[in-house]
Amino acid sequence: MIKLHDKYFKPFLSKAEIETAVKKVAHAVAADYKEEVPIFVGVLNGSFMFVSDVLKHYEHPCEVSFVKLSSYSGLTSTGIVETLLDVPENIEGRVVIILEDIIDTGRTLQKLVHLFANVNVKEFKIATLFYKPSVYNGEYTIDYVGMEIPDKFIVGYGLDYNELGRNLKEVYQLNQKHMINLVLFGKPGAGKGTQAEFLRDTYNLKHISTGDVFRYNIKNDTTLGQLAKSYMDKGDLVPDEVTIKMLQEEVEKNPDASGFIFDGFPRTTAQAEALDDFLDTKDMKINATIALDANDEVLIQRLLERGKVSGRPDDQDEDKIRNRFEEYNQKTAPLKQYYQAKGKFHSVDGIGAITDITERLKVVIDKL
Ligand code: AMP
Repeated sequence: MIKLHDKYFKPFLSKAEIETAVKKVAHAVAADYKEEVPIFVGVLNGSFMFVSDVLKHYEHPCEVSFVKLSSYSGLTSTGIVETLLDVPENIEGRVVIILEDIIDTGRTLQKLVHLFANVNVKEFKIATLFYKPSVYNGEYTIDYVGMEIPDKFIVGYGLDYNELGRNLKEVYQLNQKHMINLVLFGKPGAGKGTQAEFLRDTYNLKHISTGDVFRYNIKNDTTLGQLAKSYMDKGDLVPDEVTIKMLQEEVEKNPDASGFIFDGFPRTTAQAEALDDFLDTKDMKINATIALDANDEVLIQRLLERGKVSGRPDDQDEDKIRNRFEEYNQKTAPLKQYYQAKGKFHSVDGIGAITDITERLKVVIDKL
């Protein structure tokens, strides 16, 4: 395991595996263009090692040049791509082979294709050492691929995390083991939101409340808000496919988080399974599900009081509250067994002073 800045990375690809992928690209290009003199155009900075090694394995006449774009900041693509070094001169009528170190979303690639759009080249081919099929937008055909990889953040062999790691001979992937991901579990009014605020500050976690995200969308009258409103107003659950997609987007927005508190999600077995599958693709997992226990009559009183202050329509009507409990008993309560079977279920008494309940939660979390 190595540490770059604040993050840990674990070995992912050996020198031999990288070399096999590089040779694959060099030989495939040679098979197509050995009768020509192609110009390999490396995309800086990430591709410098790849370019160097492709050329070593390309045993026919060729030229080399570079362009430079910038798009990454930290662990995620910012979406802003600048040109820092422009298209090489004298490439009219030539075979151009772009050499990219990695293609993930395809945003940088789009900019690259536009860069060359006004030049009359004979052939324009795209080669990449690493390719993430699960996130690529599919806009352009990628002609040569060294190796397909899952959607993991990687460094080494030219690739960096905030400029460090480019000199590593092997490729490493982000190790998420140091994350804490918690599910706060409990009926409406159990205090999940209140406790999440304290835990967020204590453990430096990102708090995602699906109810809050829905309410934000309702307030801003988005399509998602309009869809969710009809369900929420009755105290029904919003359909799984909508909620799952929204939750995934919230997680994706925070690639640098050191962990998450999921509040109000998952609420169905399908959501719990989708969450596990999704986290798995990011090398993340739920560390614990902690239930805040309280009885219905206490909760109803709490919710009615909260409704007077917050104005939430679903907190002001006892019938709607009882419907939410019914939804909970039928759809959410079975999750207790789901997490118990994985040895991840914990519960604490949710009745008492807020600070006492926070302490009870900390006792559980500190043992994780
Ligand atoms: P909450 O703020 O967590 O009490 O959520 C308020 C309402 O938002 C719920 O009664 C549902 O209508 C909707 N909602 C929040 N989270 C979910 C979820 N995970 N699945 C389905 N509906 C949800």
